[in-house]
Amino acid sequence: MNLHEFQAKQLFQTYGIPVPEGRVASTAAEAAQAARALGGDAWVVKAQIHAGGRGKAGGVRTAATVDEVHGAARALLGSRLATAQTGPSGLPVEVVLVETPVAAAAEYYLGLLVDRARERMVVMASRAGGMDIEAVAAQDPEAVVKAVVNPAAGVQPYQCRRLGFALGLEAAQMKGFTALVQGLCRLFADNDASLVEINPLVATDGGELLALDAKVNLDDNALYRHPDLAARRDPTQEDPKERAAREQGLNYITLDGAIACMVNGAGLAMATMDLVKLHGGEPANFLDVGGGATADRVAEAFKLIVSDHKVRAILVNIFGGIVRCDLIAEGIIQAVREVEVAVPVVVRLEGTNVERGRELLAGSGLNVLPAADLTEAARTAVQAAEASP
Ligand code: ADP
Ligand code: MG
Repeated sequence: MNLHEFQAKQLFQTYGIPVPEGRVASTAAEAAQAARALGGDAWVVKAQIHAGGRGKAGGVRTAATVDEVHGAARALLGSRLATAQTGPSGLPVEVVLVETPVAAAAEYYLGLLVDRARERMVVMASRAGGMDIEAVAAQDPEAVVKAVVNPAAGVQPYQCRRLGFALGLEAAQMKGFTALVQGLCRLFADNDASLVEINPLVATDGGELLALDAKVNLDDNALYRHPDLAARRDPTQEDPKERAAREQGLNYITLDGAIACMVNGAGLAMATMDLVKLHGGEPANFLDVGGGATADRVAEAFKLIVSDHKVRAILVNIFGGIVRCDLIAEGIIQAVREVEVAVPVVVRLEGTNVERGRELLAGSGLNVLPAADLTEAARTAVQAAEASP
C-alpha cells in the first residue's frame, strides 16, 4: 500500500524528520484558507496522487498570491494528472498539499529499502537529488552510496557520517543528517515499510536539511499490525479491478496484453505468463486464484477478467492438487454461463479427477477449447486471441 505525500510527511514529523510547513485541502476555498493560515507571500500547491513525476507534469505549482493558490487548486482538484509514472489516463487529484516554499541550495536523494539478498535494510544516498534515481544508478552506479543496516544494532552514526560526507555535507550538518537518517530507519522498521524515499532532500542556504518530497510504501502483508495506517488507504488511487480482486482474496495485477490468465498458484501463474510470451502473446493480467480455488472464486475471477475490455482470449491453467478438477470444471462451466464470456476460453486442467473434469467441459456445449498440456494451452490461447475480433 502507498501513502500520499502529505500522509508520509505527517509520519516523518512524528519521527523528527523536518518537512516544509503545509496543509491539505480538498477544495479551492480550503486551499486559499490553508495559504492564509500558513502566511508568507508565496506557496507551492502540490497534487496528491500515488505517483512521482508530478513536478514535470504540472502537478506542483507555485503561487505568489492567495488568489493564485485558489486558481492552482481549482485547476488541479477534480482533474486527472498523468505523469511518467502513471498510465496515460493518470490518477485523480482529490487533495492538494499547500506548502511554504523552500529555497534549495542543494538537492539530494535519500532512500531506504529492503535488500532481499542481504536480508537487511539498506540506506541509499546520492548527490543527484530530484532526478530519476533508477537512471542515476544505471548510468553512474558510483553516484549512489549505500549503507547496510544491521537489524539488531540499527543504523550506526559512523554509517550516517559516511553517507553524509559522500553527499558533500559540511561537518556542521552531520548531527542533523544523522538524526534524520536514524529517524527514517526507525520509521521504516516500526511501520513495516517496503520503501521510503526523499527525493529531493534539500539543504537550505543556512544548511538546514528538509524533506521536500516524501514517499512511503508499506508492506501489505504487515498492514494488519498497523490499523491506523491501513485506514489511510486511498481507493481512488488504485486500479478498480485490482481493488475488487483484493476484496475477493484474489491476487490480480493488470498488464497490457490481450490474453487473460487464470491460474492457481503464483509460480504456475508466472510459468503460464512466460509460455504465453514464448508463443508470441502478451498476458492481460497476472491472476492467482489461490491454492484452494473453489467454483465461486473461479466465477469471481471470470467476472474480473471480462470486465477488462482488452481481453481477447482467456487461458485457464489449473492444477487440481488440493482441489478436484471436476469441481473446477463445474465452476468454469457455471461461470462462463453466468458471466456471459464472449471470448474464447482455453482450459488446461491437470491433477485429481482430471478425466471427469475434461468430460464435463467437453459435454458442456460451451465454447471451451481443451488443451492437454501447458505448451498446447499457451499456443491455442495465442491463436485464439489473434483470431478473436
Ligand atoms: P515529484 O517527485 O512528484 O515531481 P516533488 O515533491 O519532488 O514531486 O516536487 C517536484 C519539485 O517541485 C521538487 O524537485 C522541487 O523542486 C519542487 N518543490 C516541491 N515542493 C517544494 C517546496 N515546498 N518548496 C519549493 N519547491 C518545491
Ligand atoms: Mg520527488
